[in-house]
Amino acid sequence: MAGADILQFPHPIAQPAQPRASTPAQRAPGLAELELSNRLHRQLDLRKLLELFLEELRLTLPVEGLCYSPPDSAECFVAGRGTSRTLRSRLHLDGEYLGQIEAQVRDELHSPLAALLAPLAAPLGNALQHHRLKLMARKDPLTGLGNRMALDAALATEVARAQRFGQPFALLIADIDHFKRINDSLGHSAGDQVIRAVATQARDCLRPYDQAFRFGGEEFVVILSQTSLAKGMQIAERIRKRIAQRCSLDAATTGKITVSIGAAEIREAETVDGLFDRADRALYRAKSEGRNRSIAAD
Ligand code: GH3
Ligand code: MG
Ligand code: MG
Repeated sequence: MAGADILQFPHPIAQPAQPRASTPAQRAPGLAELELSNRLHRQLDLRKLLELFLEELRLTLPVEGLCYSPPDSAECFVAGRGTSRTLRSRLHLDGEYLGQIEAQVRDELHSPLAALLAPLAAPLGNALQHHRLKLMARKDPLTGLGNRMALDAALATEVARAQRFGQPFALLIADIDHFKRINDSLGHSAGDQVIRAVATQARDCLRPYDQAFRFGGEEFVVILSQTSLAKGMQIAERIRKRIAQRCSLDAATTGKITVSIGAAEIREAETVDGLFDRADRALYRAKSEGRNRSIAAD
């Protein structure tokens, strides 16, 4: 069964069906709600907030899972498990749309879902803000790719996965050839335009689960999950050719815009630094052997 309801907040906190305290008679009215509100407000991680709230709902209601979809994002945060019945509610806080919540239920709810979700609205608004700031801190503003901070986090995760589960992955380091000439002849903003175009073309060559980052000025790193060196080289060549074909700016002044790429596959027990060094040495060879080429690390 599917239902939808809309509620504008601020809204009075919904009364739980039973007080949570073991000795309810000794408690002032509303204390349980206040405690819950405090606990929810302290949690700024969206997924943990959902889990905490679900735990609370489960005490008195037949709710098995929650799924939160923020506005303007394909992301979805899930707590608990699915059932065959889904109820939906759109959340608003002081006129701002916060996204949609789906509740997986075993049985009918006796109150509208929106009323049950009321205590979640303000803490969810804070956690959403926190989440957005975290995403922004990891994004390169010029290209929209992940920045150095995002790269460090993604590499640490990927290396841990490789060491624990033996999953291979490949790393590409790409560097725009003779980029100084572009800046010197056409100016810094034309240079920025080239960086953006290169980022777009590189990203368009990748699968959804690959990750591209802007590493420095005109340098990019790509993490290719579950990819061998041979396959990584194919992707490197695809990126290189596409950039040479599609990123020309003013060929008469700058020549063709090209990149050189170094590629390496993670080895058993190798560290992030070790992998990076090998890819970087391969890139250096690509530069010294004439640029506009991809070289695989030894
Ligand atoms: P190579 O083929 O050896 O890579 O030569 P190159 O000229 O690309 O290499 P180098 O690393 O010497 O120059 C990179 C230049 O990138 C230097 C710097 O002025 C420029 N740069 C760094 N960050 C930015 C940026 O954000 N925007 C622009 N427009 N230029 C930048
Ligand atoms: Mg460089
Ligand atoms: Mg360069």
